[in-house]
Amino acid sequence: MIPNWLIQRAHLTPDKKALSFNGETWTFEQLKDQAMTLARKLKANELNEGERVALLGFSNAEMVLIIHACMLAGLEIVMLNSRLTPKELDWQLDDSDAVAVIVADELQHLISNSSTRQLPFSTIRQSDEQSFQIQEIWDSNRTITIMYTSGTTGFPKGVRQTVGNHVSSALASVLNLGLSDDDVWLCFMPLFHISGYSILARSVLYGVEVKLYDKFDAVAAAEEIRTGSVTYMSAVSLMLEKTLHELEKDAAVAHPSFKAILAGGGPVPVGYLERANERKMPVLQTYGMTETSSQTATLSAEDAIRKMGSAGKPLFFNQIKIKNSQKSGEIGEVLLRGPHITPGYIGRFQKTNPFEEGWFPTGDLGYLDAEGYLFIVDRRSDLIISGGENIYPAEIENVLAGHPSVREVGVCGKEDAKWGTVPVAFVVISDDVTAAQLTDYCAERLARYKVPKKIYFVESLPRNGANKLVRRQLREWTEAQQ
Ligand code: ATP
Ligand code: MG
Repeated sequence: MIPNWLIQRAHLTPDKKALSFNGETWTFEQLKDQAMTLARKLKANELNEGERVALLGFSNAEMVLIIHACMLAGLEIVMLNSRLTPKELDWQLDDSDAVAVIVADELQHLISNSSTRQLPFSTIRQSDEQSFQIQEIWDSNRTITIMYTSGTTGFPKGVRQTVGNHVSSALASVLNLGLSDDDVWLCFMPLFHISGYSILARSVLYGVEVKLYDKFDAVAAAEEIRTGSVTYMSAVSLMLEKTLHELEKDAAVAHPSFKAILAGGGPVPVGYLERANERKMPVLQTYGMTETSSQTATLSAEDAIRKMGSAGKPLFFNQIKIKNSQKSGEIGEVLLRGPHITPGYIGRFQKTNPFEEGWFPTGDLGYLDAEGYLFIVDRRSDLIISGGENIYPAEIENVLAGHPSVREVGVCGKEDAKWGTVPVAFVVISDDVTAAQLTDYCAERLARYKVPKKIYFVESLPRNGANKLVRRQLREWTEAQQ
């Protein structure tokens, strides 16, 4: 049993700042009052407790209020990704079996083909209010959010996240990071993704402010960090690189009150970590996924340099082991256990048991070092086997990302008559450099069989709605290239 988050928070610290967006701010009391009004309007639209609704909107203050309103009204929220195509959204709407889709007016065109009932934000705003009995206590097994995985490796899977999942995730995080009264979490992550939603959950559970932006802005990020107007920021490696690039322009450093960037969602090249160190900006590598309701392991600030490249140790409630591994250093599939892990999927994957003998297999390859620190090597599905040798694309990406002229890089396997598969690299560069120079750079740092056999220069890399590199798209590109 867990108290209704926002009701309890507004009761405890009503006047504390909860949210700021676009120059406007809300206290927890204001957030609760406005979300309650919206919840009564949702009720007037015949949305009943326990029903599943889909939600499609921007990462703005209105969306925060609607998310809270849905939770207060006892609805399960299917978080839709506004960067998906109408076809992808239709698929998720069908798969999720939502009774309605609550949609920002400007995004209505994205779901015009669906047979699901549409409820635009403006209709909700203009509705009457219907009072209802608020649930002051939530069952920790109640599903409150459903998020589709990023679809990096295949079909997105609709993941159920319970009250208990989110609460244990937030508690485990704060046991690791600590908490100060004046913490402010800078949020550029989309609210429909666990990285963004978990910031909202932490804000209400801890009683700290979220400074929300509707999209990533590297100049603003660098400014907030330099002036210390925020204490934490969550980022994927691409955002980290862009923020560093801004800070580097005038050799700026992070303000001493800025505590850390929590960087996850994918591997963070060591070169970025070194650059961040120069900017006096602590970066905590974290490992997590939709199925773990955010972080499952995080490297602490003290270990950031000593264990550079590691995703750290498990958070307090969690356990990590490597499948079939007897000793440290052995690479295998990462298995997880803990109260933050989803009880299962919905729709197409509903019957898939996420557990094997009580452990959740992640599909990621990694190892634990002698001190128990987790190193994620790569995704199992992206492993390149070349002439019988295992090659991990992330290792090569890491090296190339360290080259001063390389802004972004993606590596995948390409069919080869002699070796079966060989690694090739796609790079986005910031200034002139030749393929031969990059190949030489790799040859100095990597075993010969790992050196990309071909380097393609591209304007940008294929990324999904979570801004993640989609390597299977790169593999399609290689087929089209010579
Ligand atoms: P799908 O499951 O649909 O293929 P996805 O796995 O990308 O998509 P998410 O749940 O958003 O969907 O991402 C979780 C994955 O991100 C992890 O399984 C892992 O592969 C990757 N990841 C997260 N953090 C890290 C990290 N620190 N280092 C390396 N990889 C990471
Ligand atoms: Mg996944």
